[in-house]
Amino acid sequence: MTWRDLATPTSGAGLILSLVAGGIARSRADLVTATGFSRTTVVQHLTQLLGAGLLDETPEPKRQGGGRPSAMLRLAPDAATVLVADIGETHARLAIVDLSPALLAECVIPITLADGPGAVLAQLARCWLALLDQSRRAVADVLGMGIGLPAPVDHAGGRVVGPSVMPGWDDFDICGCLSTFIPAPVLVENDVNLMTLAEFRTYWPEAGQFLFVKAGNGIGSGLMTDGRLYRGAQGAAGDIGHMQIDRRGGPLCRCGKHGCLEAHAAGWAVARDLRSTGLALNSARDVIGSFEAGQAETTARLEAAGVALGDGIAHAVSLFNPSTIVIGGTLADAGETLLSGIRTQLHARSLPLAIRHLGIHRAHGGRDAGLLGAARLVIETRLSPAHVDTTIAAHTKAARRSVAGLKERRLKLV
Ligand SMILES: [Zn+2]
Repeated sequence: MTWRDLATPTSGAGLILSLVAGGIARSRADLVTATGFSRTTVVQHLTQLLGAGLLDETPEPKRQGGGRPSAMLRLAPDAATVLVADIGETHARLAIVDLSPALLAECVIPITLADGPGAVLAQLARCWLALLDQSRRAVADVLGMGIGLPAPVDHAGGRVVGPSVMPGWDDFDICGCLSTFIPAPVLVENDVNLMTLAEFRTYWPEAGQFLFVKAGNGIGSGLMTDGRLYRGAQGAAGDIGHMQIDRRGGPLCRCGKHGCLEAHAAGWAVARDLRSTGLALNSARDVIGSFEAGQAETTARLEAAGVALGDGIAHAVSLFNPSTIVIGGTLADAGETLLSGIRTQLHARSLPLAIRHLGIHRAHGGRDAGLLGAARLVIETRLSPAHVDTTIAAHTKAARRSVAGLKERRLKLV
């Protein structure tokens, strides 16, 4: 594998790799500016990285009006593989991804979170190993594993803390457990943060202060500030679903309190209210199915959900002053039926200065957003300036491991 060609990585080559991985440098000129190295030094390091197959350089499409096209640098897609999983309450979507990042192979497996983390994580490892086989990729080429979970996540510790729908997972060492099956670093993140990262990097890279709201069966949000995910002190930032928007009590929430934003506007709450009108709905997906079938009650209830969401988001706007708000999740499929209530409330409740240039949009990313966000998190972390030299050294070592090692690890899973 290509990494062994960098057996003695220099911090200069590592720095250049990390600047391209993080989207900070896209050309040789960018690298000279970002590193402060001379052009000759940049060329020396680039020659090493291009020769090792870790970067490639493609001509930029010729601009209108002529001018010499400049070459664009990017990570070589096949230089490594990332294993990603988006874990829901009843199913997990898994994929293997290249460094573009693009999905190479994927599968969906039924899971029971109540079986506990040991059983579920072994299931994930088995599925990833099968996907690697299918795609003819080696375990030695795995850059890392990225997992999105529907729970508050202590990202630094790689653990979930106080999950409401995951009995037995509280404070479990997810990274340690998975590494016994597949010897690669593991990154654990809240699923909404991963959707936020994917949406921002792909569609809104220029938005300085970015707020993503997931309106699905539950409600959560993610924040990007100056190009970085903002997690807060413990990783709990953005948990707007359980903000109390109704001080007079209000409907009971899944968390046991009354009047939370979720209890007014989440998919499960909308379905609960519509069941009392005789509609057999249980989830956000059912609600959108009913909306698309033209049910008048469902449309009216989604409009009300948009108003409640606007109430909650107005608090976030006052605190965070975003330049762009993007609404994703299953309920966003209702489009303007949901978004118009959000806009109305934001205009009614926010300072004119806060909303003067504020854009409110529907998310572009589809069902792969969580998986692609997990891939970006792994790529950006493992190739960040702080970790890139270790990553290169680890891959050089891993590339020398024998196939026998892989067989041995598989035996543990049988
Ligand atoms: Zn709640």
